[in-house]
Amino acid sequence: MIKNLYSLKKDIVEAGRRVYNRGYVASNDGNISARIDEKRVVITPTGVSKGFMSPDDLVVVDYEGDVVEGKKKPSSEVYMHLRIFKERPDVNGICHAHPPVATGFAVAGIPLTQCILPEVIISLGGIPLAEYGTPGTDEFYQPVLKYLKDYDAFLLENHGALTIGKDVMNAYHKMETLEHFAHIAFVATQLGNVNTLKGENVQKLLDLRKNFGIKSNVTCETCESSNAAACSIVAPNQPHAAGSAPASPIGNSPPVGSASNSPPVLPEGIDQEALVKQITATILKRLSG
Ligand SMILES: [Zn+2]
Repeated sequence: MIKNLYSLKKDIVEAGRRVYNRGYVASNDGNISARIDEKRVVITPTGVSKGFMSPDDLVVVDYEGDVVEGKKKPSSEVYMHLRIFKERPDVNGICHAHPPVATGFAVAGIPLTQCILPEVIISLGGIPLAEYGTPGTDEFYQPVLKYLKDYDAFLLENHGALTIGKDVMNAYHKMETLEHFAHIAFVATQLGNVNTLKGENVQKLLDLRKNFGIKSNVTCETCESSNAAACSIVAPNQPHAAGSAPASPIGNSPPVGSASNSPPVLPEGIDQEALVKQITATILKRLSG
C-alpha cells in the first residue's frame, strides 16, 4: 500500500478543493483518483462539486470498475483512470479538469509543446493534444493512450486537460503548471512575439531532467529546428511523439539567443543562464519536496 486509504482520500479532497477554487472546473466537472494498491483505486464520485467533497464522498473501486466501498457512484471517467493506472505502474495519482486557458488551447487545436519556460520543460516536457472522444465512453481516453508512455500532461481536444503523477498532489501540481504555462503562452501570443529557448539551453534542461530521473518526453518541434526530423536535441533514436501537431501560432519566432535579429527576451543586465539555473533549482526543490 502506498499510503493509507484515509490519507489518500484527504489528498483527493484537498486537490478537489484547489481545482475548484482556482477555477479549473465548474459545477460538478472533473475527476481525481489515487491508486490504493494492486487491487483498488479511490476516485471522486459523479455529480459532486470537487470543491466541497468530504472523504466519505469518495468511492473505492476494483480494477474492473466495480464499487467495493462507498455510497456514491464513481466518476463516469473511472475506466480512463483504471486504464492509466494499468498502463503506467509509476503513476499513483490522476487529475482531470477543464482549466480555461489550457482548454482554450485544446479547443483551438494547439498543443503546448513549445520550449518556452525552463520549469515546464523540466517538470512536464511537452504537453500533447489528444484527439477528441465522447466523454464517458472508451472513445474518450483511447486517443490519450498513444501519448501515455511518453507524457505526464495532456490537452484533451475540445474538452480539457489531464495530468498524472507519482501521487495525487503531484498530479495536481502538474495541472497548475500546465494552466500557468498556457496562460503565459497565451499572453505572449497576444503580445505578438513568442521567443523559444535556444537549443543549447534546452539541452542543459534535458541534462538536468536526466539527472533527476524525469522521463516524460520533450517535444522537439520547439527546439532550434522546426523540423522534427532534423532535431538535434531529442535523441535521434528516440521516436517522436505520435500524431503531428497542427501549425501553431506560437513558436514561430527564432529561438532566444540565436543568431538572429530577434530582440533579447530579457532586459539588459539580467543573466539568462543564471536565471535558468535559479528557476531550475527552485523547481527541483519543489519536485523533491
Ligand atoms: Zn472533463
